[in-house]
Amino acid sequence: MSEIHIRQLSRSYGTYQALKSCDLIIPDGALLALLGPSGCGKSTTLQLLAGFDTPSSGEIWADKELLSSPQKVIPPEHRGISLVFQNYAVWPHKTVAENVAFGLKLRKLSRSEVETRLNRALDMVRLGAFRDRYPFELSGGQQQRVALARALAVEPKILLLDEPLSNLDAHLREEMRFEIRRVHDELGITTVYVTHDQGEALVTADKVAVMRAGVVQQFGSPEDIFEKPANTFVASFIGSNNEIKGVKDAGGALRVGATPLRAEDRSSVAPGEPAILCIRPSRVQLCDPTTPGNRLDGTVKRSAYLGEYRDVLIDLADGGTLRAFVAPHLRPSIGDPVSVHLPPTACQILDAPQ
Ligand code: ADP
Ligand code: MG
Repeated sequence: MSEIHIRQLSRSYGTYQALKSCDLIIPDGALLALLGPSGCGKSTTLQLLAGFDTPSSGEIWADKELLSSPQKVIPPEHRGISLVFQNYAVWPHKTVAENVAFGLKLRKLSRSEVETRLNRALDMVRLGAFRDRYPFELSGGQQQRVALARALAVEPKILLLDEPLSNLDAHLREEMRFEIRRVHDELGITTVYVTHDQGEALVTADKVAVMRAGVVQQFGSPEDIFEKPANTFVASFIGSNNEIKGVKDAGGALRVGATPLRAEDRSSVAPGEPAILCIRPSRVQLCDPTTPGNRLDGTVKRSAYLGEYRDVLIDLADGGTLRAFVAPHLRPSIGDPVSVHLPPTACQILDAPQ
């Protein structure tokens, strides 16, 4: 087990900075998700953590040990880490058991110790009954379990997972999220999980670091980043989000046209300056046109039935559009006048993007 400190970590390729002054603390035994769009520097961070790459500046510490700096990188085999990739990289000509035992044999463990650890790892990923099969006899999900068992069998201090579920179909992906969480809870290994899928990050992680263009935008619990996004990028990357342009009031509300909307003010701009009001579509409520306070009026532009809810797009009288996820039995028709209530506790004022 290890607590990891990443300090001012940067990595440049020529003049391009793939990672910029990253600071993160990964508590002992935590599962951290690195979440962000493709190309934001997630794999770069993981490769640095693994010791496959050298930082341009900054340091990585595990407890009291300096693992990486521009001057010195402790090699992967001396870090007590295991890495699992998106493409499972299981050996096609080895059975499940041979794949999982491979790293153990390299460590010159006794035969009985290999057998004990092999069985434990296979049981952990529920592949005990498949030990003599070859990868081609397994589904994609089972192959990824083999890769996970192989990573776990060597009993690493740190487990690194780089988009481990990306090659699986949607149904398996959802199931495996919970499996990875379960395995983590049973073993308690400090784990870093890289994904571009916000659902995956929210389900699996204790802490999420949202990245964009090499910069950590926000670091917090899944609830924090969903409920209190640091900026409009995080707000729209994590789930659906409405952004309404307006001007900040002296009272901390946001004025949209003539309508003041009360909200939690988390912006840094002065009154009179433009800012953005964010609210999740699931928090927008259809209401009576006489409802006082935090109400906007408009017309229905689009209405789509999605079974569990109805996705309604509204053209606002004050300009712009707003999405509302409402109860599926409500049937607003296109062109209908409609009013919505934006509960102040669901509204946040954030800085307009630069
Ligand atoms: P992610 O895993 O978030 O998709 P990466 O960490 O792989 O992103 O890459 C971050 C950025 O760094 C990308 O723009 C990528 O093209 C660039 N990059 C990654 N590795 C190299 C490399 N070896 N040489 C040059 N550029 C690289
Ligand atoms: Mg990547």
